[in-house]
Amino acid sequence: MVFEELGLGPDILKAVADAGYTDPTPIQAQAIPTVLQGHDVLGCAQTGTGKTASFTLPMIEVLSNGRARARMPRSLILTPTRELAAQISQNFTTYGKYHKLTMALLIGGVSTEEQQRRLSRGVDVLIATPGRLLDLFERGSLLLNDVKFLVIDEADRMLDMGFIPDVEKIVGLLPKTRQTMMFSATLFPEIHQLAGKFLLSPKEITVTPPATTAETVEEYLVKVSPRDKNKTLRFLLQHETIENALIFCNRKKDVDLLNRSLRRHMFSSATLHGDMAQSAREETLASFKTGEIKFLVATDVAGRGLDIQGLSHVFNFDVPIHAEDYVHRIGRTARAGKTGYAFMLATLAETKYITAITELIGHNISYRNVQDIKVQDSTEASKSESKTKTKPPQRRSQSNKTVSKSAHIERDESKNRPTDPIRNRPKNKPSIKKQEQSKTVRAPSEPSTIKPSQTTHPRAAGWGDHVPAFIQVRSRASN
Ligand code: AMP
Repeated sequence: MVFEELGLGPDILKAVADAGYTDPTPIQAQAIPTVLQGHDVLGCAQTGTGKTASFTLPMIEVLSNGRARARMPRSLILTPTRELAAQISQNFTTYGKYHKLTMALLIGGVSTEEQQRRLSRGVDVLIATPGRLLDLFERGSLLLNDVKFLVIDEADRMLDMGFIPDVEKIVGLLPKTRQTMMFSATLFPEIHQLAGKFLLSPKEITVTPPATTAETVEEYLVKVSPRDKNKTLRFLLQHETIENALIFCNRKKDVDLLNRSLRRHMFSSATLHGDMAQSAREETLASFKTGEIKFLVATDVAGRGLDIQGLSHVFNFDVPIHAEDYVHRIGRTARAGKTGYAFMLATLAETKYITAITELIGHNISYRNVQDIKVQDSTEASKSESKTKTKPPQRRSQSNKTVSKSAHIERDESKNRPTDPIRNRPKNKPSIKKQEQSKTVRAPSEPSTIKPSQTTHPRAAGWGDHVPAFIQVRSRASN
């Protein structure tokens, strides 16, 4: 299918072509004609599937006829985060470049004066986070009786962040006769309940099974002790071939701590979290997008919906407490069909969350006790690593001896930091999903140089050839 078949006008088609897109993504192919026909839509689609254009394109088309009146927006898009709001507005700017639609962004963290000025001039498209919208509504800065289109984006996230009471309040202020689209990465029963409240006989469009991860993302689980977490992360950052990476922590204070630690170790990193002023966030994001900053340490809220072109890696420094966050986090990479890599560092205390994640994403994760993980500086591993180094290790040979992971990592860091070449990933590394029908991600079980037949340890399905050579897992059960 091509865009021309969806019922969009020539100006939008031209803007889409200017953006370099030829074929609609599955969510676009299904949602655009449905919205143009005037139906409500319940879309189950992750970020990265092109879902934003699936509602912005038909909205531009419909809104191109008519004019906005002062303080009376004609459409409303509710999003959980400021970043997502900013990305949606970029979509309207890109695809609406041949239309004269007016737009306002009502988000927290920026002055309300400019927002109020825009509203008073009249806006066709209003993109807002629920709190700020209600705030301005209560101050009398806008009226919602002319809203013909409502989009509730990332409804599961709204639910998670406790925004639903605000969303319900807002929906109660809108005209009953309107068209509504609701998108969510997952369609839990609660989301269906909300759909029953907000939508009228919606067409349900699911482009990927609920909570699946992209086919092109390769996922890895690295078991660590809490003490070794920072070191292990630094090791991975040095040894992976990384274009740019998002590193997720569960708490804001850990984001700051980790960022400080990375900077102390000369990594080009910065933070992104909800306590930052909007201008600081925008500056940081701009530096990340231009490559000035290579690593962005973020919380879920800040990282949600970020659209970084070509993001190569996501690191879960903490295992997400909510399983859906895992899907959202790793959805930042492997976008638009590109390959991406997602690592998760897991301590023993975090194993309970991994079970929930694997149930949600439908992969079997083989778990091992942290005490069972030993990093063996085997002859093969040493040989393979020494090929990438200019000097051999300056310490006694550790052949046939198991050493602690931290000691091994420390040695590598001191050799490679900060400018040593990064080890290259094998080019023909098969994707985990391609290797198996039922995907299994396991803790690393062998150096990449050892073939299954050469080792007495079971090969961990799902690690492909990408098991970092420094890691070898021994299961007590198997020894
Ligand atoms: P989204 O899921 O809306 O966050 O979009 C993910 C990415 O896909 C964005 O970088 C879009 O620019 C890109 N995109 C949207 N539509 C298409 C398309 N039809 N073909 C290729 N890429 C697209």
